[in-house]
Amino acid sequence: MKLDAPTLVAVTVFVMVVMGALYLLSWSQARQTRALGFLGAAQIVGAVAVTLFGLRDVIPDWLSIGLANAMMLAAYGLIWGGARSFEGRRVPLLWIAAGPLVWLAACLVPPFYASLGARVILSSAIAGLSCALAARTLWHHRGERLPSRAPAAILLASEALLIWTRIPATLVLPAPPTGTPGQTFWVAVLSFVALLYTVAISVLFMAMAKERLEAEQRRVAETDPLTGVANRRALASAARRARRAGPTALLLFDLDHFKRVNDTYGHAVGDAVLIGFCAAARQILPEGAAFGRLGGEEFACLLPGAGTAEAAATAETVRLAVAAMRPDPVPGLAVTVSVGVARGTGDFDALLALADRALYQAKAQGRDRVELAAPELRQVA
Ligand code: GH3
Ligand code: MG
Ligand code: MG
Repeated sequence: MKLDAPTLVAVTVFVMVVMGALYLLSWSQARQTRALGFLGAAQIVGAVAVTLFGLRDVIPDWLSIGLANAMMLAAYGLIWGGARSFEGRRVPLLWIAAGPLVWLAACLVPPFYASLGARVILSSAIAGLSCALAARTLWHHRGERLPSRAPAAILLASEALLIWTRIPATLVLPAPPTGTPGQTFWVAVLSFVALLYTVAISVLFMAMAKERLEAEQRRVAETDPLTGVANRRALASAARRARRAGPTALLLFDLDHFKRVNDTYGHAVGDAVLIGFCAAARQILPEGAAFGRLGGEEFACLLPGAGTAEAAATAETVRLAVAAMRPDPVPGLAVTVSVGVARGTGDFDALLALADRALYQAKAQGRDRVELAAPELRQVA
């Protein structure tokens, strides 16, 4: 296979410009994602750098060496800036500018500018550092799980290593004279590698932005906006998952005389009580429990694998904690909750229907109590 340098340079520039334009277009439509702007700018600046490199011996050296490397270092710096921006971190524009500026300042020193080895070492050191910092930024924020995060971090780290290997290579291998087939070959190989990395990293960053958006939409679709706990949809999926593993216990909570709280103290206090109830319940409920709001002042908790006695005891602990609760806006306000407990292997609706009957019993027998669904229809509180 013959690698034709001018063709590869042209393809690389074309792909970078297209990728950059796509990024800038996405950024113009979602201005809050500044990372897309940085990454788009990185592609365009990188395309200019590759063009200038490719015009070696056609344009003056200060353009194809001096300015080209400065642009290339700016492009790598912008990738680091994009990674920081993606993670919501401050973008250190001064540090990003420092790379190209250090390079340009060094170029003003004649012995440095005359030495190919010195130039390769400095530009590789700075470019590799930018890639390594970008990789580190993505890795540092791995707590936010995105499927494309690890591949992107690994790719950037490998690019850093590849760039850095040019440093020992320069020290060991003799430099091919300018314009020889050997040098043209290396320009072609480096363009090709840059092209592969550009495509892969662009695709992975786009994927991460999309994955983050999807995760956020999933979170919103499964969260109750007032209390922040899971909503009915999320509880139903938790129940489907739990059912596969065996019998599940379900606690159905309904705040007592809640309408009175609203009527007496106002809707805002009612809201605060709902939030307070969730905080109290969440403190008590065990690790594997799925707790959420079904609607209004009704809440449910799934205890996968729990026995009836354990479920009843948990319900009783929550009931006592609620009775002891003193909501912030009205410390004198007494809140109580009734709980229906069911256990079985049926689907979510079937379990809810069972627990609802038990809850009805609890209400009928005076509220502020826990009742078990048939067949163990007995009071525990
Ligand atoms: P019971 O002891 O029989 O359960 O009586 P209750 O008053 O709690 O029951 P009811 O179902 O009659 O009243 C529920 C009330 O919950 C009525 C409604 O205004 C109120 N509610 C529902 N959603 C919200 C909410 O998001 N915020 C507030 N503040 N109130 C809500
Ligand atoms: Mg109710
Ligand atoms: Mg109620």
